[in-house]
Amino acid sequence: MAEQTGKIKVCVIGGGAAGLCAIRHLVGNSKFETTAYEQMSKIGGTWVYTEQVGLDENGLPIHSSMYQNLRTNLPAKIMNFPDYMTMDAQEPSCVSHQEVLNYLKNYTQQFDIRRHIHFNTRVEHVRFEPSENSRNRDRWLVQVKNVKTNETENRYFDAIMVCNGHYFDPYIPNIPGIESFPGLILHSHAYRKPEEFSGKTVLVLGAASSGIDIGIDLSNYTTRVYLSHNHDRLTSPLPSNMTQVAGVESIYENTFHLKDKSTVDADVFIFCTGYKYSFPFLDENCGIRVDDNYVIPLYKHLVNIEHPTMCIVGIPTLVVPFPMFHMQVQYFLALLDGQITLPAENVMLEDSALKTLKKRHAHKLMDQQWDYNDSLAITGGFERLPLFYKLGYTALSVQRRTNLLRYKDSKFIVSKDGKSVELTIQD
Ligand SMILES: Cc1cc2nc3c(=O)[nH]c(=O)nc-3n(C[C@H](O)[C@H](O)[C@H](O)COP(=O)(O)OP(=O)(O)OC[C@H]3O[C@@H](n4cnc5c(N)ncnc54)[C@H](O)[C@@H]3O)c2cc1C
Repeated sequence: MAEQTGKIKVCVIGGGAAGLCAIRHLVGNSKFETTAYEQMSKIGGTWVYTEQVGLDENGLPIHSSMYQNLRTNLPAKIMNFPDYMTMDAQEPSCVSHQEVLNYLKNYTQQFDIRRHIHFNTRVEHVRFEPSENSRNRDRWLVQVKNVKTNETENRYFDAIMVCNGHYFDPYIPNIPGIESFPGLILHSHAYRKPEEFSGKTVLVLGAASSGIDIGIDLSNYTTRVYLSHNHDRLTSPLPSNMTQVAGVESIYENTFHLKDKSTVDADVFIFCTGYKYSFPFLDENCGIRVDDNYVIPLYKHLVNIEHPTMCIVGIPTLVVPFPMFHMQVQYFLALLDGQITLPAENVMLEDSALKTLKKRHAHKLMDQQWDYNDSLAITGGFERLPLFYKLGYTALSVQRRTNLLRYKDSKFIVSKDGKSVELTIQD
């Protein structure tokens, strides 16, 4: 894919952790010319906490889903990019969102990333422009808008790295009777502080990371939290005023009718039901489609099979994101500068084919993430992740399952040779 003359012009969309990682690796290779666009005035993406919800001062939807008391749900040590190991939290192993943002700021400074980013600049439209003859090459036409002046500009690029984040467009299931509910309804995207719910009874729908975490955060202020979900019951101890109940079937006024035919009453309803992958700026001719949260056609959950000079970083979920970005970015850059080539299209389409029962689970990797990261490294010809990432994730997952109230306070130590980890909770 490497161009014969001149540099390969690469456009990075977004200045969150994924975009920063893309820029860091692009600027380390003189074959690339890097231009990045960030719609906000700051780096950090979802780690930029703001009390604002709804629209920002420029009329754009608030991007961040961070809440005031959020602490990471992974030991900070395994959130480090492997080439910048400065988050060294041992105890408590999980850190505040401010510490993660500081880490990203330091990473940005260390690799001189900021000067490549056009801030307050939103990517509005990306279109594939096929070459007109054999002397030209395919290009991407990118339209950007300065969100302060509303001025727009068109630029051409050889490659696109989409790093726009995947936790900003709420998924809200349809619930019969919801229009009769007289209380406050919100999605976790707009949740900020538990104090605002003092003395209330809150029903939290969904028991993935956010539902559990927000439920526990709320329980310090609310009269009662109902954690409503359709999965096996959580076995960990929970706060005394937090009760697990079945999923919601319908609502009539303040009464929630649950799937096991029981009912509970609540005065606040919080959807912790996740997010939709969303690429509002991609023209149809880019070839990317989202079907029930299954993004196609992507090779290795990353490379656009229709036009392989585009990638989308960060699609897999239930993973350790920062180190995975490090692997995805290096793989894509190895492709772009011609160090490696893609397999035949039928092989890539087979890789992209649905392998899970439900489309919306297609990108959930969990334990498969380590083989996935290794496969990127082996094919891409770069270093694998050190073993402690996997060991730390596995140890944390066990502890989290059994002790939701205290796992974030655990002590996390990696042995000197990196071949074992210790994760303990002090009594
Ligand atoms: C509540 C919450 C808690 C989390 N906790 C953890 C945790 O404990 N540990 C962990 O490792 N991960 C956690 N994550 C996952 C987190 O999303 C990733 O760690 C990572 O920050 C994602 O980075 P990103 O760059 O892909 O996306 P984002 O951080 O969302 O950044 C995307 C950036 O793109 C910009 N952008 C979007 N569209 C455009 C456009 N059209 N033009 C220009 N710019 C655009 C946005 O403004 C934003 O700055 C959490 C996520 C959430 C929402």
